[in-house]
Amino acid sequence: MIKLVKLDRHHRKARSNKGKNEPRNISIVPRYMHIAFHQMFGVMQPDDIATQLTKILDSLNETWVDSDFKLIYKIIAVKREKWKKRSAWYVK
Ligand SMILES: [Zn+2]
Repeated sequence: MIKLVKLDRHHRKARSNKGKNEPRNISIVPRYMHIAFHQMFGVMQPDDIATQLTKILDSLNETWVDSDFKLIYKIIAVKREKWKKRSAWYVK
């Protein structure tokens, strides 16, 4: 059975932050995920999203997941050009 999902256009760089209506800046996403994303992150920039994800991870560890485990992940936002030049950052 095929389940139909409503799709939205998401601006990866928010229009309120000078994000443009060009294909490079648009993702087609399921509406339910689009709503969830903006409920969690509003129109935050990548640095703020990284901070928010870290807070969510802390909350998951403190309240939601099996206390015998701890979720660990390092979340940072790096501009792609810098990432290409210094990919060694990720080999630690
Ligand atoms: Zn959006």
